[in-house]
Amino acid sequence: MKIENPNPINWRFAERAEQLQASFIREILKITQQPEIISFAGGLPSPLTFPVEEMQAAFDKVLRDNGKVALQYGPTDGYTPLRQWIADALSVDGAKIVPEQILMTSGSQQALDLLGKVLIDEGSRVLVETPSYLGALQAFSVYRPEFKSVATDEHGLVPESIDAVADGARLLYSLPNFQNPTGRTLSVERRQQLVETCARHGLPLIEDDPYGALSYKGDPLPKMVAMNPDGVIYMGSFSKVLTPGIRLGYVCAPLPLARRLELAKQAADLHTSQLTQMVVHEVVKDGFLERHIPKIRQLYGDQCQVMLDAMAQHFPAGVEWTRPGGGMFIWVTLPQHINAMQLLDEAIAQKVAFVPGAPFYANEAATNTLRLSFVTVPPERIRHGIEVLGKLIAAKL
Ligand code: PMP
Repeated sequence: MKIENPNPINWRFAERAEQLQASFIREILKITQQPEIISFAGGLPSPLTFPVEEMQAAFDKVLRDNGKVALQYGPTDGYTPLRQWIADALSVDGAKIVPEQILMTSGSQQALDLLGKVLIDEGSRVLVETPSYLGALQAFSVYRPEFKSVATDEHGLVPESIDAVADGARLLYSLPNFQNPTGRTLSVERRQQLVETCARHGLPLIEDDPYGALSYKGDPLPKMVAMNPDGVIYMGSFSKVLTPGIRLGYVCAPLPLARRLELAKQAADLHTSQLTQMVVHEVVKDGFLERHIPKIRQLYGDQCQVMLDAMAQHFPAGVEWTRPGGGMFIWVTLPQHINAMQLLDEAIAQKVAFVPGAPFYANEAATNTLRLSFVTVPPERIRHGIEVLGKLIAAKL
């Protein structure tokens, strides 16, 4: 029997919930999932790279050989053989990572939330790049910090700009490889400077690195966590090298922090799916990624080049863009007077979508910027979509 509600629902929400905002990108994604739209908006990896057969075989094997364990509750910190595999992968000569430092999370997005929970009080100062990953700004915002933007240039974050804002800061959130949203990479010299500066200030340095393995040419640059495992918190993810649908990421932290993060995770969701972790361990343990990742690099590198060539052909003078060495994004800076939000409306009317840059800024936004992803759009449609954008921009000059 349905009970009638005499009052309209007028509940009081917590202040932090009143503040929550929908991610602009996820909102755009709803529009752009219509098949006729050429979408450069999503941050989705290409499904062409998903190892469906290997995952299926691993699910079968884990359930057959170890089903009772896989389907049971598991420990909060994660499946130890996978944590050991990750610790070994992160260890270098002189900087050994132990499995106790690794906490498995439900996507690395959860690591951002847990880091916010453990490190940020209301009003705490949090240092972020300009621009930065929107999902991190969103995750940290729940804990109501005061964001301070740290300057970046074409080589990424500028370490010298930290001294002026480091006083009392709780963390610096950085994206050294093929940054989301700009595609920029921090040079080795700057990595060293950054690690040294944060150590000098006793400032926790977060290294968020979901794209590090996806360099188009040459080896990835050294990780900052390897330069100072006691001062750097490293975040990794299986989303961009295997599949995002499994929601599996991890955070590597100095032991006292790892323990706090583990307790925060326990309160949040007890643990990440044991089945998923065992399956991923089964897939990666014998070197699968070493064969698989080069295929992703090739595909993304080729499509990136297609987009860069199309931009050179169709974008008018006065428009600037980044030339990423890996990852999934190109960042475009339009002439100052062009508002990317308005451009988006016009582009959608012509069935092309992208993400305006403004939501990626914690403080003053540059409204003449936008992010393009090339990984899920076939070359012909990349060329056509860029031509459409080029004409729309040219009409505004
Ligand atoms: N960090 C960055 C920089 C990202 O781009 C993303 C995904 N878009 C994440 C973290 C979260 O990824 P996941 O939760 O899938 O690991």
